Amino acid sequence: MASTGILIETENNNVKETSLGVMTAAAGQEIYALVLEQDASAMKEKLAEYGASHIVSITSSVDLSASPDLQAQALAAAVKEYEFEALLGTASAIGRDLFARVAAIIDEPLVSDCVQVNIAERKVRKSHFSGKIFATLKVNGSILLCTLRPNSIDPVAVQAAGELIDFTADLVGSGLIKIVETKKAGAGKVDLTEAPIVITGGRAIKAAENYTMLEAAAQKIGAAVGASRAAVDAGYAPHSMQVGQTGKTVSPKLYIACGVSGAVQHFAGMKTSKVIVAINEDKDAPIFAKCDYGIVGDIFDVVPVLTEKL
Ligand SMILES: Cc1cc2nc3c(=O)[nH]c(=O)nc-3n(C[C@H](O)[C@H](O)[C@H](O)COP(=O)(O)OP(=O)(O)OC[C@H]3O[C@@H](n4cnc5c(N)ncnc54)[C@H](O)[C@@H]3O)c2cc1C
Repeated sequence: MASTGILIETENNNVKETSLGVMTAAAGQEIYALVLEQDASAMKEKLAEYGASHIVSITSSVDLSASPDLQAQALAAAVKEYEFEALLGTASAIGRDLFARVAAIIDEPLVSDCVQVNIAERKVRKSHFSGKIFATLKVNGSILLCTLRPNSIDPVAVQAAGELIDFTADLVGSGLIKIVETKKAGAGKVDLTEAPIVITGGRAIKAAENYTMLEAAAQKIGAAVGASRAAVDAGYAPHSMQVGQTGKTVSPKLYIACGVSGAVQHFAGMKTSKVIVAINEDKDAPIFAKCDYGIVGDIFDVVPVLTEKL
């Protein structure tokens, strides 16, 4: 059986749901769950439940914690040690950073932000031209290096052994880059790109303070709040909340667009959402041609009722 390494991401020492989805993408392979510089034993049960045959705790004699290039070197050393056929991760900020570095270190091709992967055939599916087309790519390299769009694959539990292994990467130096400070967007807020549900407010939100209406709904269902570019340009929301071609790409299970017209550039960032709900007062708004469920109405009437029902 071919072996696949999966880079596991965590939040408060819990395995992120998005990493479990990546493990599901590798179902049928001998899965090595790779945990960087953390107590992997605490995650054993969860990782074994989702198919990890082996759980590798990667450390080094040097401090890996604040250096993405040392982390990438440690990952590359694990790839060599275990001779993986594939190395998969999430197309998150961390995954995008580390995988690009690993690809450079081991001199292999990388495909990022894929929505499907077939490890046996070395094929991936990913969107191009702002989501206008999906292409299937065959990757010719000695290893398949691939990051998957968060939430593109639903996690499915498949019990495996979950054997704990310690791997110490033999590294020297302090790394080329050191992270000196990390600022979180907001305590307790759900990460937009990884959220299972996203509620977005468009230009119709009319003022920054009106986002509290969407936040109230979001809190009930563990959703993240997004914005259209028109809302960002009008100063109602920061750019970090923007969904679309020049903002973030999201792929939640449920996307609720409130007062968003449905421009192609917005759609580019959320079209792979599993279910799209639109609330718009204009029954002819383009978003109604692209959504699964539509509510014709004023967001200031509909959203409070929705929040109450939720
Ligand atoms: C190169 C380029 C990149 C771009 N990148 C992005 C991007 O990343 N993300 C993005 O979003 N856009 C992007 N855009 C802009 C995009 O083309 C649209 O202008 C933008 O998405 C429109 O935002 P909107 O839907 O909020 O506003 P509008 O198009 O103005 O739509 C507002 C909608 O709200 C409805 N409405 C108004 N009041 C209410 C109410 N009270 N209740 C219910 N409905 C109401 C209206 O009927 C309307 O349909 C980009 C454009 C370009 C050229």
